[in-house]
Amino acid sequence: MRATTDTITAIATPAGRGAVGIVRVAGAKLDGLIAAIVGKALVPRVATFAVFRDARNEVIDQGLAIHFPAPHSFTGDDVLELHGHGGKAVLETLLARCVEAGARLAAPGEFTQRAFLNGKIDLVQAEGVADLIDAATTSAARAAARSLSGEFSREVGAVNDALIELAMLVEATLDFPEEDIDLLHAHDASARVAAIRGRLARLLARASAGARLRDGLAVALIGRPNVGKSSLLNRLAHEDAAIVTPVPGTTRDSVERDVSLAGIALTVVDTAGLRATDDVVEQMGIARTWQAVERADAVLVLLDARDQAGAPDADDAAILARLPAALPRLIVHNKADLAGGACGVWTHEGVVHLRLSALTGEGVECLERELLAIAGASGDTAHGFLARERHLAALREAALHLAAAATQLALAAPPLELFAEELRVAHRALASLTGAFTSDDLLGVIFARFCIGK
Ligand code: GDP
Repeated sequence: MRATTDTITAIATPAGRGAVGIVRVAGAKLDGLIAAIVGKALVPRVATFAVFRDARNEVIDQGLAIHFPAPHSFTGDDVLELHGHGGKAVLETLLARCVEAGARLAAPGEFTQRAFLNGKIDLVQAEGVADLIDAATTSAARAAARSLSGEFSREVGAVNDALIELAMLVEATLDFPEEDIDLLHAHDASARVAAIRGRLARLLARASAGARLRDGLAVALIGRPNVGKSSLLNRLAHEDAAIVTPVPGTTRDSVERDVSLAGIALTVVDTAGLRATDDVVEQMGIARTWQAVERADAVLVLLDARDQAGAPDADDAAILARLPAALPRLIVHNKADLAGGACGVWTHEGVVHLRLSALTGEGVECLERELLAIAGASGDTAHGFLARERHLAALREAALHLAAAATQLALAAPPLELFAEELRVAHRALASLTGAFTSDDLLGVIFARFCIGK
């Protein structure tokens, strides 16, 4: 773990030219450094116009200086921000001046790490800072902001509080074995476990929706040759100025390609590679292609709107039948311009159908809306937290142990020691989220991924 008492500095704004550039300093006591560079004491948390000078008293730049005395700062220690002009040379000179005045260069994420170590934010919030900076879409940014504001942490805390209360009840019961199970019944332990599990499940759903926003959504675009998969892909890619590239390593004619739609990764899979065949090499290709489809978070099945009134043919129907039942799917009737009739969206037997033209672009915006909805960027998942795999794993582990606890409690003679242990493990899993039981190694990994100056 890095020391938190020495003084660190970094350029906080992106490299390159800009109207304003900021150098940030954090340390135990910055009065000396402020006097050396700014030449006067600063009113706490008030932006003051100042001239920034070097050791020979020559002017480096002029701008705004803000002093956030400890503990009322982002990191919790003394923080100074120097807002100068956003040029590479001037900011580097200012940074060098801060080093000369006693600071050392900060490691990536070190300011945020200090905020965590000083108890200003928890680990989920610290990760929210990085995710907010990295967010590629408005929805992802909103979800990260919710994590950063502590909403995710509060939800985790509420589940954990309920868990601790229950654990205390069990511990009390263990101390009075003669009354044991009656005491638990009297306090309705089963209902409490069920309530905690319900709350955890809702939290997991919100976190999963957020994780999809963060990691992107793998969508398999399947359909017979010539139904317009490439055209649709290019249409989606063009409108988002994304790049369509062949994925290297695919054996048969471009089976997979990737495109990004508002931060969502789409993968196209040609169902030409999914048809029954006796050819051994082709069968291997088919197995690989199916793996890609089954790995997908959603499937787009493309049909020609002119065929059999837009119904899937036997091959497509066979493929549809083989898709995992829970896999979200959209049926796209393409070439509406040739088939005639209006573009639009409808639902048939619980499945969303769209009629559009990849060639003219008509109706494509409906498809984009549906895709974003599946990705959790709108609708009922709009309250997601920008969760990471680490968060999902911890929530799932807690849910698993609570499920085991519920099973034990339902037995005629509940093994209370084991029950208490399940609750303890679930509690530890949840506590690891906010950083209460987090190893230094993990902290190192998390903060190393931050940008310098944050
Ligand atoms: P893929 O084999 O499924 O990738 O299909 P392509 O995207 O290569 O399209 C096959 C042919 O259909 C091309 O000549 C496209 O220009 C044409 N096509 C694709 N979508 C449409 C559409 O919406 N309307 C019309 N009229 N032609 C289309």
